[in-house]
Amino acid sequence: MRISSKKALSLARRFLTSNKPHHVQWFLTNRCNYRCRSCGVWREKQKSVEVSVEEVKAGLDALKKIGVAEIVFSGGNPLLREDIDEILTYASQYFITTIYDNGSMALNKIDALRNADFVAISLDTLDEKKNDYMRGVKGAWKKSMEAIEKLYEEGISVGVAPTISQLNIYEMENFTRNFTEKGVPIWYALYSHDDIGGSLFTIGEKNDELEIIDKKAMAKFCDTLMNMKKRRSGIFITDKTLMALKQLFLTGERVWKCRALQNFLMVNHLGQVSGCHLHEPIAKVAELPKIWDSKRFDVLRAKYSACERCTYVCYLFYSIHSGIAGNLAIVRDQFKNAKSLISRIYETRYAH
Ligand code: SF4
Ligand code: SF4
Repeated sequence: MRISSKKALSLARRFLTSNKPHHVQWFLTNRCNYRCRSCGVWREKQKSVEVSVEEVKAGLDALKKIGVAEIVFSGGNPLLREDIDEILTYASQYFITTIYDNGSMALNKIDALRNADFVAISLDTLDEKKNDYMRGVKGAWKKSMEAIEKLYEEGISVGVAPTISQLNIYEMENFTRNFTEKGVPIWYALYSHDDIGGSLFTIGEKNDELEIIDKKAMAKFCDTLMNMKKRRSGIFITDKTLMALKQLFLTGERVWKCRALQNFLMVNHLGQVSGCHLHEPIAKVAELPKIWDSKRFDVLRAKYSACERCTYVCYLFYSIHSGIAGNLAIVRDQFKNAKSLISRIYETRYAH
């Protein structure tokens, strides 16, 4: 984690300013070397055309101007970009920067990853055969496990990123115990799929095998996580998010209004922006400072606020935790995690 005092101050200023889009997910590429059953990306025609590193930097400057504080780089696999080192170095000067890897590239890119604040490695289960089936690639489990172990040893802030689905819901408690006992934090995603319509990008693919049909088990897992959080660190999901998910699975009720284009937005591999990946592109990223406060964007905000098309956990999380109060609630909820991360960074980097 690279938090200099200058960066910390600038981040605090942005996080404590209201009506700003604090969070951005940037799909840097649609190229991917995996074939996950839950994913639509690899089914799309993969094109190598992507915004250049200079355009990415100009886009990051624009995002900083409109108050963004946190960037998540994903794809495809963003580590397939040859210029990822330069992108991470630039982004991490200004933003809390997280990058996702499916486990296949991290060991070849360790020096680049030292520049990220967090590295999330995909892994869905402790069962090797099942994981490889879900990821569509033989050897995926082994690569992810090796990457997690090595990055952890190197003092890089690595976490494991499972997608909860019907195929692994009953193992998630054990999975959580296993990694948190080793000091490796967990960022959860929930299986969700895209419906039909003009979109910025495709992520989820409909798959009946993965759709959570045992809704009571999912609600129970939310309770389990809330209880586990009282005793251990490393569970990176807030109680408020878990309560909302539990309610959704038990009653179908959504207790949140979507805050797309208010608290978060998405950017694709062409540098196009949308409130979320299920909606059509509305601008180029570099144009944002000029149009963020426009009437056209207010109309789109109202449209997204009424939308109930998806249950992607990151969108839910950033809708529930919006504005200054939402950011402070995250800090309160995740205080134990922040403390243990800081002490681990101190142990691995300075205490020799
Ligand atoms: S989920 Fe990620 S790793 Fe898997 S195919 Fe999609 S983009 Fe690739
Ligand atoms: S609920 Fe929000 S994040 Fe989901 S599709 Fe609608 S606008 Fe997008």
